[in-house]
Amino acid sequence: MSHYIPPEDLDAVCRARRVHTPCPRCRGVGRAVDGWRGGMQVGMPWDTCSACWGTGDAEHAGDDVRQLRTDLAAADAERGLRWLAHAVGADLLSVRLALPHVTRQIERLRDRQDGIHAVWLTFNALAAALREMGGKP
Ligand SMILES: [Zn+2]
Repeated sequence: MSHYIPPEDLDAVCRARRVHTPCPRCRGVGRAVDGWRGGMQVGMPWDTCSACWGTGDAEHAGDDVRQLRTDLAAADAERGLRWLAHAVGADLLSVRLALPHVTRQIERLRDRQDGIHAVWLTFNALAAALREMGGKP
């Protein structure tokens, strides 16, 4: 579905959406080709406007979806770290200190894989997850 609105219809769209100060980026529509994910996604070029966050109103922006996603990823990483600490029977600080070393070892195992691609993918995903939890080597 296209989100293109002809310029002559923008006033009506803004009235219908109760937009008083149209966002300069999306002209009050709330969606833009260069949305918050950087635009040009395959099959989904229109995205939520990253200036007004979908409200279309420059004076009343919606929730910053990019920040929400960052906050959710951080919460997931923290939950993963707590799960790992519980699983190995260690405190959070010990696990945090061990994570960079464990991550590096897993990356070495990954880099030595030359046979089964699924094993390489698993080591790679595990290292990425540990890095998210704070195991940045
Ligand atoms: Zn906008």
